[in-house]
Amino acid sequence: MRQITAQMVEQMDQNDELASFKKEFYTKDDSIYLDGNSLGLLSKRAEQSLLDVLNDWKEHGIDGWMGGKYPWFTLSEKLAEKLSLLVGAKEKEVIVTGSTTVNLHQMVATFFEPQEGRTKILADELTFPSDIYGLQSQLKLKGLNPDTDLIQVGSKNGLTLDEQDIIDKMTEDVALILLPSVLYRSGQLLDIERLTREAHKRNIPIGFDLCHSIGAIPHELSNWGVDFAFWCNYKYVNAGPGGVGGLYVNTKHFTKTPGLSGWFGSKKETQFDMDHHFDAENSAGGYQIGTPHMLSTAPLIGSLSIFEEAKIDRIRTKSLKLTSLLMDLLNQEIENEFTIVNPLDDTRRGGHVALMHNDAARICKALKQNGIVPDFRAPNIIRLAPVALYNSFQDVFEAVKILSKIMKNREYEKFENKREVIA
Ligand SMILES: *Cc1c(COP(=O)(O)O)cnc(C)c1O
Repeated sequence: MRQITAQMVEQMDQNDELASFKKEFYTKDDSIYLDGNSLGLLSKRAEQSLLDVLNDWKEHGIDGWMGGKYPWFTLSEKLAEKLSLLVGAKEKEVIVTGSTTVNLHQMVATFFEPQEGRTKILADELTFPSDIYGLQSQLKLKGLNPDTDLIQVGSKNGLTLDEQDIIDKMTEDVALILLPSVLYRSGQLLDIERLTREAHKRNIPIGFDLCHSIGAIPHELSNWGVDFAFWCNYKYVNAGPGGVGGLYVNTKHFTKTPGLSGWFGSKKETQFDMDHHFDAENSAGGYQIGTPHMLSTAPLIGSLSIFEEAKIDRIRTKSLKLTSLLMDLLNQEIENEFTIVNPLDDTRRGGHVALMHNDAARICKALKQNGIVPDFRAPNIIRLAPVALYNSFQDVFEAVKILSKIMKNREYEKFENKREVIA
């Protein structure tokens, strides 16, 4: 392969249609942030919208629900219209609400309807722990046994899944399937369309956790017929730590009674009748539970306006170029150190690059000391996420240069190979 030079990388930045968004984010001159897959950076627009909502509280008190700049009573629905563009759904199929784990509970409580001989939930052994804890407790709530009723599809290499293995487990005793869109460690993007088609051939409802794809990858949830999905908005969507998440329910299920009902799922017109008969909104909004967390919703206003301009297809195109460049440079500059464990194929790769190394924990510490912010996933994975909205091609070039120096000088050896409490 042709040697990649600094000039070539400079040219990539000059040709970058999204380059202007970088200055809208609080990046630092003396460090390169490659951890947007864990917590996206603050943008000036998100900061402003948070201040606007605070100001409405200051100025209007209770009347902020119906007045002010962004009336709170309908803000979750208004933002869902913009968020629906990121998941490829109809406006009413999406709502801004809850968090990943809470939304998982709501969706599983709603869609898991075990019957005689059909009591199992199908998931995978590589998924995020919270998703598994949620499924275990939902099984217990229905009087079932997680040891026998939760099936976790295995991985041949401990890093990626084979769709055929998942499909082979879609047996008659499965009542619900829950899978991630992108695996949080290896960054593998599953074939959502194929998995949905195969699940539906067997009449099994299927949902996806989009935490690691939302904001990085376009989706077509409606066209693919996915039954439900949920996600957080604090990773690639940059809505702030603990920012309010989202969920999607396919239109054909709007008549399904929420498994966990609450008054914010009511029809807006009748919510304040205070009647004890629950009349759910005929949309994804019907699956809301309680009063929305306005101060943790507010940054989404600014953040989603950036996505509206940048467009998710362009974000995906740039993201793939960034991760390709990162892998090419790693191969060029650093020999025989790391194993790249994310899929190399563009159609199977999420938004980050995953490197395996026995000293991963302390290499991450050395990177941080050198102004590069990666993240570490036990036991031996370094994740590097160059984010299309605020990382440049130059950032990737610099980061690999520093990593190469750390490896050559074995600078990581002065740290203990142990993770921090938060990694
Ligand atoms: C980030 C992440 C979570 C976190 O869930 P919270 O409820 O927001 O804490 C859950 N699942 C996956 C797959 C994630 O990537």
